[in-house]
Amino acid sequence: MLMDKYKKIISRIYDSVSAIPPRGKIADYIPALAQVAPGSYGIAIALPDGRTDGVGHWHTKFSIQSISKVFTLAMVMRHMGSSLWQYVGREPSGSPFNSLVQLEHEHGIPRNPFINAGALVVTDRLIGLYDRPKEAILSFVRSVAGSDDIYFDKTVARSEYEHASRNLALAHFMKSFGNINGSVDTLIDVYCNQCSIAMSCEELARSFLFLTDRGINPFDGERILSVSRAKRLSALMLTCGFYDESGDFAFRVGLPGKSGVGGGIVAFIPGRLSIAVWSPELNEYGNSVRGIDTLERFTTDLGISIF
Ligand code: GLN
Repeated sequence: MLMDKYKKIISRIYDSVSAIPPRGKIADYIPALAQVAPGSYGIAIALPDGRTDGVGHWHTKFSIQSISKVFTLAMVMRHMGSSLWQYVGREPSGSPFNSLVQLEHEHGIPRNPFINAGALVVTDRLIGLYDRPKEAILSFVRSVAGSDDIYFDKTVARSEYEHASRNLALAHFMKSFGNINGSVDTLIDVYCNQCSIAMSCEELARSFLFLTDRGINPFDGERILSVSRAKRLSALMLTCGFYDESGDFAFRVGLPGKSGVGGGIVAFIPGRLSIAVWSPELNEYGNSVRGIDTLERFTTDLGISIF
């Protein structure tokens, strides 16, 4: 019943958005990302019981990029209590995702865990927690997505690793402030791999159901995060999930969400549904133009957001 209603809304949105030629630019600063088919567009919805439906290219896998930052943060939050927040802040940055400038003023403590610097700190702590961090990340994502068919895209990982000067600079700079514990090379390798994970809209929508349900993985009933930590992670998505466009996303869409430069966006309505959109053309902030447009239309047509 409910799914029929959601499906009608996303089908209508898909038709009207598809009729407008996509604006924006496919990311090419990681060369392998530029290989994606222009005009790709998919939407998937997942309900708390795990059922899914979608339109367009909702089964096509794409590079999740920065959406992976939510998974790694969840993994680290499971193990580290409030001490994590000494090393990474929780304020919107108001600057681009890969900016270096703020870090100098703020003594190597990144503003939040979703800009690259913050995500690097989180992944550095994750490497300290797991013997085989890449395997641990993959197995976490598979468990929350309820699917084993999720892998690193080695071509994308290699391409990013070969063009990682900016992330290397961020990591070395933070290490000089004592805010990176392990080897920078290992860190960048793990980070490039986590960003390269390939997932479809359907898999992404499913993998955020644990946040939709306040920390419980619907696929095996396991509690991933306490209610309080799930609240904190969701609040960070609302305030920091879209870099220096986070305020505008909250204003237009009214949901916690996270974007990646592969063109994916995932968002959720607590207790009701999780939704993923993929369209690779990005705006100047590195967020999918059609993705934001779709989600704005969705909460407007549905008349439901978190507000
Ligand atoms: N892997 C990308 C990078 O580090 C992720 C950026 C993003 O998706 N915003 O540049």
